[in-house]
Amino acid sequence: MGNAGQSGHLYKINEIFYSLQGEAFWQGTPAVFLRFSDCNLRCPFCDTEFLSGNIMSVAEILENIAQYPARRVIFTGGEPLMNDTFPIASALKSAGYILHVETNGMFEPGHTLFDWVSVSPKNKRLKIIHCDEAKILLGRGEAAELFGLSANHYFISPKNPTHSEKIGSAGSVLTDAETLQYCIEYVKQHPQWRLSVQLHKYLGIR
Ligand code: SF4
Repeated sequence: MGNAGQSGHLYKINEIFYSLQGEAFWQGTPAVFLRFSDCNLRCPFCDTEFLSGNIMSVAEILENIAQYPARRVIFTGGEPLMNDTFPIASALKSAGYILHVETNGMFEPGHTLFDWVSVSPKNKRLKIIHCDEAKILLGRGEAAELFGLSANHYFISPKNPTHSEKIGSAGSVLTDAETLQYCIEYVKQHPQWRLSVQLHKYLGIR
């Protein structure tokens, strides 16, 4: 548990939920997802509603996460590293959790408490230049662009329907067949990459 100053820190949290990691290296692994509100980017292809949220203290976040049996917590967003994550990360670490972060790489964590750093770069203004896994969202006709990032593992993730498309009347959460086929062929032609579909969407879970 952090000190009094740390536990008094407040965060705007979009949601906390328990599921399986659907993507990339840890696909299929149970984890608690700690989704921070807001993002410094507004990517037109974003598939996540990240604007809403509730203000929560470190203690409230810890209490919420403790109801689940998994000892792995994934910081995601939005962009989690827009926040000072040290207070919540140090409190979770002290409680024995393994910590992952999913980020666009434009902010440095400011500490070394994350056990796994996953970067999905969107432009060359990167502050993180090496990470555990790089995930590139790829649409039809596009090439995977790392913007100078290096990683231990490289994943291509087919672009999904956007958040606004999903909530449309004919919305589907699944990648269209043409985009999927394009990404399959792309990985076959560029074998340094691996394909990562969002398994949770195909399973119909969160
Ligand atoms: S960086 Fe990620 S969370 Fe932020 S708008 Fe782009 S796709 Fe969405």
